[in-house]
Amino acid sequence: MQIEKASLTGFCFGVRRALNMMEKAAAEKGGIASLGDLVHNRQVVDYLESLGVRVICNLEESQGGAVAIPSHGAGPEVFQEIEARKLPLVDATCPIVSKAQRKARDLRQAGFQVVIFGDPDHPEVRAVLAWAGEGALAITEPEALLARGKIPRRLGIMAQTTQTPKAFSLFVAKLSELALAQMTELRVVNTLCPSVHLRQQAAQELARRVDLMIVVGGHHSANTRRLAEVCREAGCEARHIETVAEVDAAWLHGKERIGVAAGTSTPDQAVEAVMARLQELAGQSR
Ligand code: SF4
Repeated sequence: MQIEKASLTGFCFGVRRALNMMEKAAAEKGGIASLGDLVHNRQVVDYLESLGVRVICNLEESQGGAVAIPSHGAGPEVFQEIEARKLPLVDATCPIVSKAQRKARDLRQAGFQVVIFGDPDHPEVRAVLAWAGEGALAITEPEALLARGKIPRRLGIMAQTTQTPKAFSLFVAKLSELALAQMTELRVVNTLCPSVHLRQQAAQELARRVDLMIVVGGHHSANTRRLAEVCREAGCEARHIETVAEVDAAWLHGKERIGVAAGTSTPDQAVEAVMARLQELAGQSR
């Protein structure tokens, strides 16, 4: 049995940057409160907790100490409240996400209603929606815009950073087909994350050559879930796991080549642990 790791794994620069900021802030300020998980990975959140970073759900729980905004960002009202409460701020929003937020604000100010191709419950999307203002919505099917009844005259389309270029293009094409005739202007802003796209390409390339892909990353991590999807689109069986404990020996029966890929917030140690476990199982099957 051959086991191969995708050509691109490890933290993306946004996660690495957020982690560095938190390590520095925790060392300088002692306790610090993160408004939600810094990234969608349990091991990273546990590691930060060991440094004195506690996760809070709202600013009431900050107890007057320093507050960190996670890599997924936050809406403008959150920054206003932090300022009003005079809380020290550590803004770990990924620069790619900040850029998407600025684009959403600019579209709103230019008179466009914003539609985000993405999961309305994901914290990144919720924050961008807040920047996009009233009337903005997040959908995954273009028909959902029509179901609202009135088509906006000027529409700006953006994407959750973790979507694939292919899915975003299809969404834009279908929405244009359904509603362009009723609009005066349609503006498409590419807010996809290049780091995510490179990982999707690396995982898909490997998926075409193996019998099974193991994709390692938080179960709530949108980019990890998408990685597993692109592997399946390449015609390969794919399993999404968060830790090595979830590896099931039965998955390997009859398989000759196994590929391993990882999301942008998955620590190298988690990937190496999975690689080691697969090597061990491969040795037992000889
Ligand atoms: S995946 Fe992209 S958008 Fe998300 S934190 Fe990493 S670099 Fe930023």
